[in-house]
Amino acid sequence: MAVLSVIVPCYNEEESVADFYAELMKNQDFFTEKELEVEILYVDDGSKDNTVAEVKKLRETDRRVRLISFSRNFGKEAGMFAGLEKSRGDYVVLMDVDLQDPPSLLPEMFSYMEQGFDSVATRRVNRKGEPPIRSFFARLFYRLMKRISRTEIMDGARDYRLMTRQMVDAILQMQEYNRFTKGIYGWVGFQTKWLEYENVERAKGETKWNFWKLLIYSLEGITAFSTVPLSIASVMGVLFCVFAFVLIIFIVVRTSIFGDPVSGWPSLVCIISLVSGVQLFCMGIIGQYLAKTYLEVKRRPIYIVKEEL
Ligand code: UDP
Ligand code: MG
Repeated sequence: MAVLSVIVPCYNEEESVADFYAELMKNQDFFTEKELEVEILYVDDGSKDNTVAEVKKLRETDRRVRLISFSRNFGKEAGMFAGLEKSRGDYVVLMDVDLQDPPSLLPEMFSYMEQGFDSVATRRVNRKGEPPIRSFFARLFYRLMKRISRTEIMDGARDYRLMTRQMVDAILQMQEYNRFTKGIYGWVGFQTKWLEYENVERAKGETKWNFWKLLIYSLEGITAFSTVPLSIASVMGVLFCVFAFVLIIFIVVRTSIFGDPVSGWPSLVCIISLVSGVQLFCMGIIGQYLAKTYLEVKRRPIYIVKEEL
Protein backbone atom coordinates (compact mmCIF):
# COMPACT_ATOMS: atom_id res chain seq x y z
CA MET A 1 0.00 0.00 0.00
CA ALA A 2 1.45 3.35 -1.02
CA VAL A 3 1.53 6.14 1.52
CA LEU A 4 0.47 9.69 0.71
CA SER A 5 1.69 12.42 3.06
CA VAL A 6 -0.28 15.62 3.15
CA ILE A 7 1.77 18.45 4.65
CA VAL A 8 -0.13 21.47 5.93
CA PRO A 9 1.79 24.41 7.40
CA CYS A 10 -0.38 26.37 9.84
CA TYR A 11 0.20 29.63 11.61
CA ASN A 12 -2.66 30.93 13.76
CA GLU A 13 -5.23 28.92 11.84
CA GLU A 14 -7.54 27.59 14.56
CA GLU A 15 -10.62 28.22 12.40
CA SER A 16 -9.29 26.38 9.38
CA VAL A 17 -7.74 23.21 10.81
CA ALA A 18 -10.98 21.21 11.05
CA ASP A 19 -12.42 22.62 7.82
CA PHE A 20 -9.35 21.56 5.94
CA TYR A 21 -9.56 18.04 7.34
CA ALA A 22 -13.23 17.78 6.33
CA GLU A 23 -12.51 19.02 2.83
CA LEU A 24 -9.56 16.65 2.38
CA MET A 25 -11.61 13.68 3.58
CA LYS A 26 -14.09 14.26 0.76
CA ASN A 27 -11.43 12.43 -1.23
CA GLN A 28 -11.73 9.33 0.97
CA ASP A 29 -13.32 7.25 -1.80
CA PHE A 30 -10.48 8.14 -4.08
CA PHE A 31 -7.91 7.18 -1.44
CA THR A 32 -9.61 3.80 -0.91
CA GLU A 33 -9.90 3.17 -4.63
CA LYS A 34 -6.20 3.86 -5.20
CA GLU A 35 -5.29 1.97 -2.01
CA LEU A 36 -3.54 5.01 -0.62
CA GLU A 37 -2.71 5.19 3.04
CA VAL A 38 -2.94 8.83 4.01
CA GLU A 39 -1.06 10.70 6.72
CA ILE A 40 -1.89 14.32 7.44
CA LEU A 41 0.96 16.30 8.87
CA TYR A 42 -0.06 19.57 10.41
CA VAL A 43 3.04 21.70 10.94
CA ASP A 44 2.23 24.29 13.56
CA ASP A 45 4.55 27.22 12.99
CA GLY A 46 4.52 28.55 16.55
CA SER A 47 0.86 29.61 16.54
CA LYS A 48 -0.31 31.79 19.38
CA ASP A 49 -3.94 30.66 19.14
CA ASN A 50 -5.58 27.26 19.56
CA THR A 51 -4.21 25.67 16.40
CA VAL A 52 -2.34 22.97 18.33
CA ALA A 53 -5.39 22.10 20.43
CA GLU A 54 -7.51 21.85 17.26
CA VAL A 55 -5.04 19.45 15.68
CA LYS A 56 -4.92 17.33 18.85
CA LYS A 57 -8.70 17.17 18.83
CA LEU A 58 -8.60 15.84 15.27
CA ARG A 59 -5.94 13.32 16.23
CA GLU A 60 -8.22 11.91 18.86
CA THR A 61 -10.75 10.91 16.21
CA ASP A 62 -8.29 10.02 13.47
CA ARG A 63 -4.81 8.62 14.16
CA ARG A 64 -3.70 9.47 10.64
CA VAL A 65 -3.40 13.06 11.79
CA ARG A 66 0.12 13.98 12.90
CA LEU A 67 1.39 17.15 14.52
CA ILE A 68 4.74 18.87 14.48
CA SER A 69 4.81 21.99 16.59
CA PHE A 70 7.61 24.56 16.46
CA SER A 71 9.06 26.40 19.44
CA ARG A 72 8.33 29.73 17.72
CA ASN A 73 7.30 31.14 14.35
CA PHE A 74 9.95 30.10 11.84
CA GLY A 75 8.05 31.01 8.68
CA LYS A 76 6.22 28.95 6.09
CA GLU A 77 9.42 27.89 4.35
CA ALA A 78 10.67 26.25 7.55
CA GLY A 79 7.26 24.64 8.05
CA MET A 80 7.30 23.09 4.60
CA PHE A 81 10.86 21.86 5.09
CA ALA A 82 10.02 20.25 8.43
CA GLY A 83 6.97 18.59 6.89
CA LEU A 84 9.03 17.16 4.04
CA GLU A 85 11.67 15.94 6.45
CA LYS A 86 9.20 14.20 8.75
CA SER A 87 6.96 12.82 6.02
CA ARG A 88 6.99 9.08 5.37
CA GLY A 89 4.96 8.99 2.19
CA ASP A 90 5.86 7.56 -1.20
CA TYR A 91 3.95 10.57 -2.48
CA VAL A 92 3.99 13.91 -0.75
CA VAL A 93 1.72 16.87 -1.25
CA LEU A 94 2.05 20.37 0.23
CA MET A 95 -1.14 22.35 0.86
CA ASP A 96 -2.24 25.56 2.56
CA VAL A 97 -4.72 25.07 5.36
CA ASP A 98 -6.90 28.00 4.22
CA LEU A 99 -8.37 25.95 1.32
CA GLN A 100 -6.77 28.18 -1.29
CA ASP A 101 -5.18 24.97 -2.55
CA PRO A 102 -8.33 22.94 -3.28
CA PRO A 103 -7.96 19.32 -2.06
CA SER A 104 -10.52 18.40 -4.74
CA LEU A 105 -7.72 18.66 -7.32
CA LEU A 106 -5.91 15.67 -5.80
CA PRO A 107 -7.45 12.90 -7.96
CA GLU A 108 -6.57 14.80 -11.12
CA MET A 109 -3.06 15.49 -9.86
CA PHE A 110 -2.65 11.86 -9.00
CA SER A 111 -3.68 10.72 -12.46
CA TYR A 112 -0.73 12.61 -13.91
CA MET A 113 1.62 10.92 -11.45
CA GLU A 114 0.36 7.60 -12.81
CA GLN A 115 1.25 8.80 -16.28
CA GLY A 116 4.83 9.02 -15.12
CA PHE A 117 5.32 12.61 -14.02
CA ASP A 118 7.58 13.12 -11.00
CA SER A 119 5.63 16.08 -9.80
CA VAL A 120 2.35 17.86 -10.42
CA ALA A 121 2.44 21.57 -9.63
CA THR A 122 -0.28 24.16 -9.64
CA ARG A 123 -0.42 27.77 -10.71
CA ARG A 124 -3.21 30.25 -10.59
CA VAL A 125 -4.07 31.92 -13.83
CA ASN A 126 -5.47 35.04 -12.21
CA ARG A 127 -5.14 36.87 -8.94
CA LYS A 128 -8.79 37.60 -8.33
CA GLY A 129 -9.50 39.05 -4.91
CA GLU A 130 -5.95 40.25 -4.33
CA PRO A 131 -5.05 43.93 -3.88
CA PRO A 132 -3.99 45.26 -7.34
CA ILE A 133 -0.76 46.72 -5.98
CA ARG A 134 0.23 43.31 -4.65
CA SER A 135 -0.50 41.64 -8.00
CA PHE A 136 1.47 44.31 -9.81
CA PHE A 137 4.62 43.78 -7.74
CA ALA A 138 4.21 40.02 -7.85
CA ARG A 139 4.15 40.11 -11.65
CA LEU A 140 7.16 42.43 -11.67
CA PHE A 141 9.05 40.04 -9.42
CA TYR A 142 8.44 37.04 -11.68
CA ARG A 143 9.40 39.00 -14.80
CA LEU A 144 12.62 40.14 -13.14
CA MET A 145 13.41 36.64 -11.91
CA LYS A 146 12.96 35.24 -15.39
CA ARG A 147 15.68 37.58 -16.61
CA ILE A 148 18.20 37.30 -13.84
CA SER A 149 17.95 33.68 -12.80
CA ARG A 150 18.66 30.52 -14.73
CA THR A 151 16.36 28.56 -12.46
CA GLU A 152 12.83 28.39 -13.77
CA ILE A 153 10.34 30.10 -11.49
CA MET A 154 6.73 30.10 -12.72
CA ASP A 155 4.55 33.17 -12.43
CA GLY A 156 1.60 32.46 -10.18
CA ALA A 157 3.04 29.15 -9.04
CA ARG A 158 1.71 28.02 -5.69
CA ASP A 159 3.45 25.85 -3.18
CA TYR A 160 0.64 23.30 -3.76
CA ARG A 161 2.49 20.40 -5.30
CA LEU A 162 2.40 16.62 -5.41
CA MET A 163 5.78 14.92 -5.60
CA THR A 164 7.40 11.52 -5.59
CA ARG A 165 9.62 10.45 -2.72
CA GLN A 166 12.58 10.76 -5.06
CA MET A 167 11.94 14.44 -5.65
CA VAL A 168 11.32 15.07 -1.94
CA ASP A 169 14.66 13.49 -1.12
CA ALA A 170 16.31 15.74 -3.68
CA ILE A 171 14.73 18.80 -2.08
CA LEU A 172 15.82 17.66 1.36
CA GLN A 173 19.40 17.59 0.15
CA MET A 174 19.19 21.34 -0.19
CA GLN A 175 19.90 22.21 3.40
CA GLU A 176 20.17 25.95 2.88
CA TYR A 177 18.97 28.31 5.55
CA ASN A 178 17.71 30.98 3.18
CA ARG A 179 14.96 28.89 1.59
CA PHE A 180 12.94 29.88 -1.44
CA THR A 181 10.96 26.79 -2.28
CA LYS A 182 9.63 27.99 -5.62
CA GLY A 183 13.22 28.25 -6.81
CA ILE A 184 14.26 25.00 -5.17
CA TYR A 185 11.58 23.08 -7.10
CA GLY A 186 12.90 24.45 -10.35
CA TRP A 187 16.50 23.83 -9.36
CA VAL A 188 16.07 20.12 -8.57
CA GLY A 189 14.38 19.59 -11.95
CA PHE A 190 12.31 16.43 -12.63
CA GLN A 191 9.32 16.12 -14.95
CA THR A 192 6.65 18.49 -13.78
CA LYS A 193 3.07 18.76 -14.99
CA TRP A 194 1.48 22.18 -14.47
CA LEU A 195 -2.18 22.42 -13.59
CA GLU A 196 -3.89 25.75 -13.81
CA TYR A 197 -6.81 26.95 -11.80
CA GLU A 198 -8.64 30.14 -10.92
CA ASN A 199 -7.59 31.84 -7.74
CA VAL A 200 -9.64 30.77 -4.73
CA GLU A 201 -10.06 33.23 -1.92
CA ARG A 202 -9.07 32.29 1.61
CA ALA A 203 -11.93 30.48 3.38
CA LYS A 204 -11.43 31.82 6.91
CA GLY A 205 -8.97 33.92 8.88
CA GLU A 206 -6.65 36.35 7.21
CA THR A 207 -3.48 36.25 5.18
CA LYS A 208 -0.23 36.07 7.13
CA TRP A 209 1.65 38.07 4.53
CA ASN A 210 1.73 41.82 4.37
CA PHE A 211 3.45 43.88 1.73
CA TRP A 212 6.74 44.17 3.64
CA LYS A 213 6.96 40.48 4.38
CA LEU A 214 6.41 39.73 0.69
CA LEU A 215 8.98 42.31 -0.37
CA ILE A 216 11.61 40.83 1.93
CA TYR A 217 10.67 37.34 0.78
CA SER A 218 11.12 38.39 -2.86
CA LEU A 219 14.56 39.82 -2.08
CA GLU A 220 15.40 36.50 -0.49
CA GLY A 221 14.29 34.77 -3.66
CA ILE A 222 16.56 37.00 -5.71
CA THR A 223 19.65 36.56 -3.56
CA ALA A 224 19.04 32.82 -3.29
CA PHE A 225 18.67 32.16 -7.01
CA SER A 226 20.58 34.85 -8.83
CA THR A 227 23.95 36.53 -8.59
CA VAL A 228 23.18 39.04 -11.32
CA PRO A 229 22.77 41.96 -8.86
CA LEU A 230 26.41 41.40 -7.90
CA SER A 231 27.52 42.23 -11.41
CA ILE A 232 25.70 45.56 -11.31
CA ALA A 233 28.81 47.02 -9.67
CA SER A 234 31.04 45.85 -12.51
CA VAL A 235 28.67 47.13 -15.18
CA MET A 236 28.31 50.51 -13.51
CA GLY A 237 32.07 50.69 -13.02
CA VAL A 238 32.70 50.15 -16.71
CA LEU A 239 30.07 52.73 -17.70
CA PHE A 240 31.51 55.34 -15.38
CA CYS A 241 35.05 54.67 -16.62
CA VAL A 242 33.95 55.21 -20.23
CA PHE A 243 32.14 58.39 -19.25
CA ALA A 244 35.14 59.69 -17.27
CA PHE A 245 37.49 58.90 -20.15
CA VAL A 246 35.41 60.89 -22.64
CA LEU A 247 35.15 63.74 -20.14
CA ILE A 248 38.93 63.84 -19.58
CA ILE A 249 39.63 64.14 -23.30
CA PHE A 250 36.99 66.83 -23.65
CA ILE A 251 38.39 68.89 -20.78
CA VAL A 252 42.03 68.52 -21.85
CA VAL A 253 41.18 69.67 -25.36
CA ARG A 254 39.00 72.53 -24.18
CA THR A 255 41.58 73.76 -21.67
CA SER A 256 44.40 73.73 -24.20
CA ILE A 257 42.34 75.73 -26.68
CA PHE A 258 40.43 78.16 -24.41
CA GLY A 259 42.63 78.29 -21.28
CA ASP A 260 41.37 77.53 -17.79
CA PRO A 261 38.83 79.90 -16.27
CA VAL A 262 38.23 78.43 -12.77
CA SER A 263 34.65 77.31 -12.54
CA GLY A 264 32.77 74.02 -12.47
CA TRP A 265 32.19 73.66 -8.75
CA PRO A 266 28.49 72.74 -9.13
CA SER A 267 29.20 70.07 -11.72
CA LEU A 268 31.88 68.61 -9.47
CA VAL A 269 29.47 68.34 -6.57
CA CYS A 270 26.88 66.65 -8.79
CA ILE A 271 29.37 64.13 -10.06
CA ILE A 272 30.76 63.34 -6.62
CA SER A 273 27.34 62.79 -5.11
CA LEU A 274 26.14 60.69 -8.03
CA VAL A 275 29.19 58.46 -8.02
CA SER A 276 29.24 58.01 -4.27
CA GLY A 277 25.54 57.16 -4.38
CA VAL A 278 26.20 54.46 -6.95
CA GLN A 279 29.10 53.17 -4.88
CA LEU A 280 27.03 52.88 -1.75
CA PHE A 281 24.22 51.19 -3.69
CA CYS A 282 26.63 48.58 -5.01
CA MET A 283 28.16 48.06 -1.59
CA GLY A 284 24.65 47.53 -0.25
CA ILE A 285 24.08 44.75 -2.78
CA ILE A 286 27.35 43.09 -1.85
CA GLY A 287 26.34 43.49 1.79
CA GLN A 288 23.08 41.63 1.13
CA TYR A 289 24.91 38.63 -0.28
CA LEU A 290 27.48 38.79 2.48
CA ALA A 291 24.75 38.80 5.11
CA LYS A 292 23.12 35.75 3.54
CA THR A 293 26.48 34.00 3.41
CA TYR A 294 27.04 34.88 7.06
CA LEU A 295 23.72 33.33 8.08
CA GLU A 296 24.38 30.33 5.89
CA VAL A 297 27.82 29.53 7.36
CA LYS A 298 26.44 29.61 10.88
CA ARG A 299 24.55 26.41 10.00
CA ARG A 300 21.69 27.16 12.34
CA PRO A 301 18.84 24.67 12.32
CA ILE A 302 15.99 25.62 9.99
CA TYR A 303 13.39 24.90 12.68
CA ILE A 304 13.14 23.72 16.28
CA VAL A 305 10.47 21.21 17.29
CA LYS A 306 8.69 21.67 20.59
CA GLU A 307 6.19 18.83 20.29
CA GLU A 308 5.65 15.98 17.90
CA LEU A 309 2.76 13.52 17.78
N1 UDP B 1 1.99 30.07 7.22
C1 UDP B 1 2.92 29.51 8.07
N2 UDP B 1 3.83 30.33 8.70
C2 UDP B 1 3.84 31.68 8.53
C3 UDP B 1 2.90 32.24 7.64
C4 UDP B 1 1.99 31.41 7.00
O1 UDP B 1 2.95 28.30 8.24
O2 UDP B 1 4.68 32.36 9.13
C5 UDP B 1 0.99 29.20 6.54
C6 UDP B 1 -0.46 29.60 6.72
O3 UDP B 1 -0.99 29.08 7.90
C7 UDP B 1 -1.11 29.03 5.48
C8 UDP B 1 -0.02 29.13 4.44
O4 UDP B 1 1.21 29.28 5.16
O5 UDP B 1 -1.47 27.66 5.62
C9 UDP B 1 -0.25 30.29 3.49
O6 UDP B 1 -0.40 31.50 4.21
P1 UDP B 1 -1.43 32.60 3.78
O7 UDP B 1 -2.72 31.97 3.37
O8 UDP B 1 -1.49 33.60 4.89
O9 UDP B 1 -0.72 33.23 2.53
P2 UDP B 1 -1.41 33.71 1.16
O10 UDP B 1 -2.27 32.57 0.69
O11 UDP B 1 -2.19 34.92 1.50
O12 UDP B 1 -0.26 33.96 0.25
MG1 MG C 1 -3.73 31.74 1.70
